[in-house]
Amino acid sequence: MNHNLFATFAERMSARRDRNFITTLDGRTYSYGQALETSARLAGALTSLGVKPGDRVAVQVDKSPEAILLYLACLRMGGVYLPLNTGYTADEIGYFLGDAEPALFVCRPASLQAAREIAGNTGCPNVETLGTDGDGSLMDAASNASAFDGIEQRADDDLAAILYTSGTTGRSKGAMLTHRNLASNSASLTEAWRFTDQDRLIHALPIFHTHGLFVACNVVLMSGASLYFLPRFDLDAIIEAMPQGTTMMGVPTFYTRLLQDKRLTAELTANMRLFTSGSAPLTAETHQEFQQRTGHAILERYGMTETNMNTSNPYDGDRIAGTVGMPLPGVEVRVTNRETLEEVPQGEIGILQVRGPNVFKGYWRMPEKTREELLPDGFFITGDLALIDERGYVHIVGRDKDLVISGGFNVYPKEVEQVIDEIDGVVESAVIGVPHPDFGEGVTAVVVLQQGASVTEADVLASLAGHLAKYKQPKRVFFVDSLPRNTMGKVQKNQLRDKFGDIYKDA
Ligand code: AMP
Repeated sequence: MNHNLFATFAERMSARRDRNFITTLDGRTYSYGQALETSARLAGALTSLGVKPGDRVAVQVDKSPEAILLYLACLRMGGVYLPLNTGYTADEIGYFLGDAEPALFVCRPASLQAAREIAGNTGCPNVETLGTDGDGSLMDAASNASAFDGIEQRADDDLAAILYTSGTTGRSKGAMLTHRNLASNSASLTEAWRFTDQDRLIHALPIFHTHGLFVACNVVLMSGASLYFLPRFDLDAIIEAMPQGTTMMGVPTFYTRLLQDKRLTAELTANMRLFTSGSAPLTAETHQEFQQRTGHAILERYGMTETNMNTSNPYDGDRIAGTVGMPLPGVEVRVTNRETLEEVPQGEIGILQVRGPNVFKGYWRMPEKTREELLPDGFFITGDLALIDERGYVHIVGRDKDLVISGGFNVYPKEVEQVIDEIDGVVESAVIGVPHPDFGEGVTAVVVLQQGASVTEADVLASLAGHLAKYKQPKRVFFVDSLPRNTMGKVQKNQLRDKFGDIYKDA
């Protein structure tokens, strides 16, 4: 049996050749038939460029239908898709190419020169471009290539994708996701959320992250639904699309922004059957306000790069605000003591662990990290603090790691601190997440200077600009004489969060 996820998609796509797969904001469309054809050509292009089954294909491009067709092409010919955040700087890309050793790097047309340089330094043999208009050298190669009509034979634990997730130690880790991981999760989400080929999903998420790529696109491909593709969150475009849409997947920021607009009403959303939220906590107030305004109870779910989706509020039944629902079919969860790793009594807070066909194979070339987080019995230590209530609903109450989630994107403090600490005149720094009305959390730096140093907030921000993606850069920088520490020498970030807790209140 061929466990290639593309085989399942191809079956559904072939049955709907004339139906719309994807429409962009500027009116470009692909039917399922056209998507099959173009992805076969792209798979042919990959093969002709020397990409072999098991090879990584690193991709840093702006959102477009062709980027999704490239993902499909990669699956089809047995490559390993490796999407990279569009905000990553040249330094960051250098690390990923060096670590993943892709056979091909696909970049934006405007970045070709810089990309070639990075590829040269990291030994990546090939660079091609992909634009947002069906343009780029990869599309040219696809139109000249003969189509790859077969579907490469894959075992269920062969890699389909690698998604990098920053580590708290500062080094990013590549989560290895298998065909089985993605197939099982997309099948259970399709069923849990009742997706059919009558659905039209309003898609405003980025496609380099598990949410916008796997949750959204795989569910659509599994069900034969269609995608309405927006380049990014755009309030006017979403409001305009709502009467023709049936579903939307969002991060909490989407909902808080929609709520600020008077045009969001029950009439506007009358055709919609489902709004989902994830990637960061949705506040109970937002959930309630949205329900009062539109009549829709946002369905909140919980997952992560390493595990795909783990839990979901029910489609039928109570969607409880402030909870992430119950484990998806086939997924097991347990709440454990962080030191002993023993299960804690029901209702108590501990570290959430998950096990199931959705849980990744391990971190790329990091066997030790994998052993630390993926236990011998198959449970993965999520690092999230949670409790399970008497009805079986999971509540995420915090993060063990000091992860900051700003606008739905993860920012690992250590990575930002390391760059700040290199600035002349800086002794040390602590980066924390502080409640922010728009972003959920605002990245905030607290810095200790050497005596007599005259570094300003603007200096710190300016020196980070070339090194870190925009979303990782602090919104504010504060200076203190010393950082609060416990007797073990650990910085007490909760004290800093308390101290600076309301700085964005009126932002
Ligand atoms: P990522 O790997 O980027 O998907 O980030 C995963 C992390 O996002 C999880 O470990 C959680 O800390 C957080 N997360 C995802 N969904 C939710 C949610 N619904 N509520 C609270 N935190 C969430």
